[in-house]
Amino acid sequence: MRNVFIPVITAVAIFIAGIFILNIQLWYSARVDSSSGARYAVNHINAILDEARVAARTATEIIAKGCDAEGQYQLGTEAALQPHLRTIVILKKGQPWCSSLPGNRILLLNIDSIPFSELLLTPASDTVNGRPVLLFQTHFATRRIIVSVSDSHIRDALSTPLEHVNYALVVGGYALDASGNFTITHRQETQAGQARSGNYPYSVRYNLPPLFSVQRLIEQGAGIMLFLLLMSATAAYVLYKYLNKNTLPEESLRTAIARGEIVPFYQPVVNGREGTLRGVEVLARWKHPQAGYISPATFIPIAEKSGLIVPLTQSLMAQVATQMNAISTKLPEGFHVGLNFSAPHIAMPTFLDECLKYKDSFVRKDLNLVIEVTEREPLDIDENLVQTLNVLHDKGFAIALDDFGTGYSGLSYLHDLHIDYIKIDQSFVSRVNEHVDSTRILDCVLDLARKLSISIVAEGVETKAQLDYLNRNHIVFQQGYYFFKPVPFTRLIQILLSKPKVKVVVE
Ligand code: C2E
Ligand code: CA
Ligand code: CA
Repeated sequence: MRNVFIPVITAVAIFIAGIFILNIQLWYSARVDSSSGARYAVNHINAILDEARVAARTATEIIAKGCDAEGQYQLGTEAALQPHLRTIVILKKGQPWCSSLPGNRILLLNIDSIPFSELLLTPASDTVNGRPVLLFQTHFATRRIIVSVSDSHIRDALSTPLEHVNYALVVGGYALDASGNFTITHRQETQAGQARSGNYPYSVRYNLPPLFSVQRLIEQGAGIMLFLLLMSATAAYVLYKYLNKNTLPEESLRTAIARGEIVPFYQPVVNGREGTLRGVEVLARWKHPQAGYISPATFIPIAEKSGLIVPLTQSLMAQVATQMNAISTKLPEGFHVGLNFSAPHIAMPTFLDECLKYKDSFVRKDLNLVIEVTEREPLDIDENLVQTLNVLHDKGFAIALDDFGTGYSGLSYLHDLHIDYIKIDQSFVSRVNEHVDSTRILDCVLDLARKLSISIVAEGVETKAQLDYLNRNHIVFQQGYYFFKPVPFTRLIQILLSKPKVKVVVE
């Protein structure tokens, strides 16, 4: 199975963690913004009330001078010149004594029932124009001075560009918000923030931003969220690649075996002197749908490492038997069919039965089925293995020691196992050229093989010089590009039906 779960979980975790941090960051900024907005509103309202305080001071001068026409004019001018004030009224014994409005009129209803406190928010029902008003009050010598501030100025002061924050002026038990709503606030609201004025007895109340808000994330963090998404997708991709870098080839090889993409190629083994076909060596090829034929050097090591060599070889055995049965009438007597087996496969307890089943599946019982065992990889020669190979030998299999001369244990194999053929590795054959010296090593290897009275197969014959040398040395079985490259089954049929190409070489 490809490892998808961990990359997906990691991507989701990175994304969620990123969103969490982003949300906290935005929440904190929103809090700071809301509180700054409240401070801004407080400063604005303080400035308005400072105007009221100045106006009250003017009123004290009039109280001292008396409310004549001049005094009334002065009061009216003061109210008119201070940009945020509406009226200035001086009460004596609860009744209007002097007003900034002509004719000493006042805009407040039920004036005698308005309580005294430095700051007071009165509802719309207490004013002539039906709008709430903020009152600044002070006493001076038995007189009470009331300066009123229009609600529209308060609302302006409470309006900020912050869209999701509602500010309200809270005085005593009443609140007036930026939309002009006048409410009674009995108790402190827990979900609200407050900014108190240091100069006047009021505060500005505002709603706190929610801890988590999808809308806020979209409006203010869309870019970062997109970046997070790309980051987590990239992390997932890199992790996926990393986690699957080892399992991927194994996984695709498993699928390839199941789909029958591992197919046998056949390299003919010829009698070098006569040019007649003596057999074939089966060589695996991966018929990849995209990459074409893939060399066994690429996938056999993966198959051996992963244990897939067993199903791979079983699949080849089945295909080889089917194909050889299809051309059984065309095969010469004693035709060799060599198959390569890996050391770990041979050591498996099921190996003997697999081979016997393989032999049973051939129609022609006279074929020479050859088990090629390489000496490149170490083989654990224990009693079981010796017994298995000996049983196979007795049952009619031939055992070939492949790549002879390349490993270290070749000689001990020869001693312990019943070997029928030695396959001289192509690295020795390829050294042979016209020079007399070039054959020295091969001379020794052949000498050794001859002394052991074991049949020899020469691999990798590519040139006429090599062929001549082998023929001179009576090496009958030869295999190499000089004769044939490994070919697919259809080409093998053509080769079987054609006449031998190699002429008898006379020394
Ligand atoms: P090998 O068993 O020694 O097979 C002989 C290799 O030499 C083959 O390579 C063959 O194509 C190549 N060859 C034959 N004649 C010549 C020649 O004249 N010149 C040169 N340069 N090369 C020649 P191939 O088919 O690539 O196989 C490589 C190796 O992969 C095989 O070496 C064998 O060890 C392994 N192999 C192939 N098929 C199987 C298989 O079904 N099972 C196992 N366990 N191993 C396999
Ligand atoms: Ca071989
Ligand atoms: Ca070989």
